[in-house]
Amino acid sequence: MSETNVDVRPLRDFVVNFTRLIEAAPTEAVILEKGRTLLARLIARDDWLAEDFTRPHPEHYRQYLLHCDPLERFSVVSFVWGPGQKTPVHNHTVWGLIGVLRGSEAAIRFRRGTTGRLEQAGEREVLRQGAIDAVSPTIGDIHEVSNNEPEQTSVSIHVYGANIGAVGREVYDLASGQSKPFVSGYSSTSVPNLWDRSAEERLDQN
Ligand code: FE
Repeated sequence: MSETNVDVRPLRDFVVNFTRLIEAAPTEAVILEKGRTLLARLIARDDWLAEDFTRPHPEHYRQYLLHCDPLERFSVVSFVWGPGQKTPVHNHTVWGLIGVLRGSEAAIRFRRGTTGRLEQAGEREVLRQGAIDAVSPTIGDIHEVSNNEPEQTSVSIHVYGANIGAVGREVYDLASGQSKPFVSGYSSTSVPNLWDRSAEERLDQN
């Protein structure tokens, strides 16, 4: 795997600060509020994500694991969307924060209606570079996300309250309202190396 020359410090700082936030065992509302600020800072610049984690697939969106907390209390994932690509309608079962790093995405939210069918909740929402969205079973957990760019790749950074690739979730068929079990997994077998701090150490020695 080629590691392009990027500055991983913003991602490392984000992981460290998010670990501190989670370590304080806050409520979901506090995680979403403070986590939003941390994620906004991370996606305010676009010089820290190696190219390996930004490559689209010709047919479907990709999700690259960037970090998983050792106790699986949170995970950080880069979602990469080629033109025309979208998720099925799906849930998360845990809190999630979504920040757009590159391009733009469109999200449509759904809720269970009284008949058991899924109904659209609110307008199709476009999230542009720098925008942040949140999901959870308490604030609305079912949505469909697509690349809003007709000819460009979009990249978003997601944070979830679990090792999201291994969480048992559901995808939904809109016409029938039926759900199917779903475990997303990850598109990658390696994560960015955040921990080679030798350059800083060598500088300190001089
Ligand atoms: Fe989602």
